[in-house]
Amino acid sequence: MRLVFYLKMDLGNNIHLVKGSWWASNIYIINENPLTLVDTGMPYSLKQLEKTLHEGGKTIRSVELILHTHGHIDHIGSTNLVKEKSSALSCGHKLDETHFDKAHKYYGTNIITGLLSNVAGVILNMQPLFIDRYIFENETFDILGGLKVIHTPGHTFGSVCFYSEKYGILFSGDALQQRNGRIIKPKRAYSENPEQEEDSVQKLLELDFDKLFSGHHELIFSDAAKKLKKF
Ligand SMILES: [Zn+2]
Ligand SMILES: [Zn+2]
Repeated sequence: MRLVFYLKMDLGNNIHLVKGSWWASNIYIINENPLTLVDTGMPYSLKQLEKTLHEGGKTIRSVELILHTHGHIDHIGSTNLVKEKSSALSCGHKLDETHFDKAHKYYGTNIITGLLSNVAGVILNMQPLFIDRYIFENETFDILGGLKVIHTPGHTFGSVCFYSEKYGILFSGDALQQRNGRIIKPKRAYSENPEQEEDSVQKLLELDFDKLFSGHHELIFSDAAKKLKKF
């Protein structure tokens, strides 16, 4: 069943997946009004995004809202390209401002992420990203029956998740990811604050969600919170 979902890229609830990889995040298209993207992958994700939109009878021009889970390069890569071709409003948390601006100073073990990010940014000619509107804890967007911002600092200080209580869906970015039903523990090389990230994972597990739509790795389509709490 899951294979069929992936082939069709149709996750239900008018949500379509542009499948990413370890180094480019998934893009989620929420085909509602406004037409919304959750994250934008890498710059080279744009082609697949355009193809998926086209299959749904839409174009890049139709995109009206871009919600960023955080400012890492693999989640914001196509945003400037989408904004060039549309009037989309880009949103993210203010605490990730330096990531969006490409001015972030990485430190400690996180310096490896910084180096990789900077090299990729140069190769891919990534420019600073202008955020039209900063988002905040508990702010709710009028899609998916009310899509709420959950601030989950740790992976980055401005990491957020987007939660639809009505449909039991959590878009978790890199704040909560799993493999084989087990939560992937925060890694010092990728986290700005691993202890804070652990706390954010616990905060998320208090929510009631069936579907886990993360930035990378496997998705969960039923009883996600219940399954993950066991470990
Ligand atoms: Zn990522
Ligand atoms: Zn990340």
